[in-house]
Amino acid sequence: MKLNQLIAMLALAACAATALAEEVVVYSARNEQLIKPLFDAYTRDTGVQIKFITGSEGPLMERLKAEGQNTPADLLLTVDAGNLWQASQEGLLRPIQSKILQDNVPAHLRDPNNEWFGLSVRARTLVYNTGKVKPSDLSTYEHLADPKWKGRLCLRSSKKVYNQSLVAMMITEYGEAKAEAIVKGWVNNLATLPFPDDTKAIEAVANGQCDVTVVNTYYFGRLIEKSPMLAAAIFWPNQKLSSKDAGVHVNVSGAGVTRHAKNPAGAQKLMEWLSSDKAQNLYADKNLEYPVNPRIRPDSIVAGWGDFKQSLINVKEAGSKQVQAVKLMDRAGYK
Ligand code: FE
Repeated sequence: MKLNQLIAMLALAACAATALAEEVVVYSARNEQLIKPLFDAYTRDTGVQIKFITGSEGPLMERLKAEGQNTPADLLLTVDAGNLWQASQEGLLRPIQSKILQDNVPAHLRDPNNEWFGLSVRARTLVYNTGKVKPSDLSTYEHLADPKWKGRLCLRSSKKVYNQSLVAMMITEYGEAKAEAIVKGWVNNLATLPFPDDTKAIEAVANGQCDVTVVNTYYFGRLIEKSPMLAAAIFWPNQKLSSKDAGVHVNVSGAGVTRHAKNPAGAQKLMEWLSSDKAQNLYADKNLEYPVNPRIRPDSIVAGWGDFKQSLINVKEAGSKQVQAVKLMDRAGYK
């Protein structure tokens, strides 16, 4: 082979390698409408192409597991720390060292072993009927177990990971016995059978079927955008407690670089970018969530609900105590 042929071949090989390195493949449990604008912005900023598929968190994780080392996925993007913890437990993720992510994501909202990082925050808080309840009637999650709320509480089903995570966090906070007593109290106070989703629970509060519920704020945000006169409002519980356990229960949507990523460096860069100022504004605002990066202000609708103190318990407990939480809810008769 002549030297110039060799040089041409090497150049071609280098090009091919660059082309491969300039693509990141994402499996996303977040919908296309939410992530496509972000990924487009990333491609505009960096020239890196992002290929993605979207799906429900369970099947996506199953797929990642089944594909093993042949998976094309570099990054797993999903909701709820319970799911992220599960992915990590099943060996689907790899630890990464990133000063940027450590700086942008508070310690309680990421994996202590650096396998996943929160990218947006969802607050699971109280929503009450503004005609029937005064904010001064409300105080804590625990207080909703008081007989004073008999026949006045609505809840979403215990089958949803959001409630499993909430109860797992309460087990961490109060211990199992007290958490169980609280959940039993809630069940005793139910106005009606648990709802299949947060939106129906808020609507039941707004139309007076019950007085108070526990939901993620972005569902409230979506409803209030559609019907500004909704007879419901947000209340931040556990704000006056001085203990380290005080605060609103939060969870995350987040991401981790896959164990068998072909482009782990590219996946890490994308995740770092998602935690940056620019992406945080886009990401959290679009779904009316809270930025995970505490330097970024939430969207104006969200900011209008006021500031609150969040629980500082590491969200990984939502995963590590999930089985315990499911059993507890079952014993308590929480359907
Ligand atoms: Fe949700």
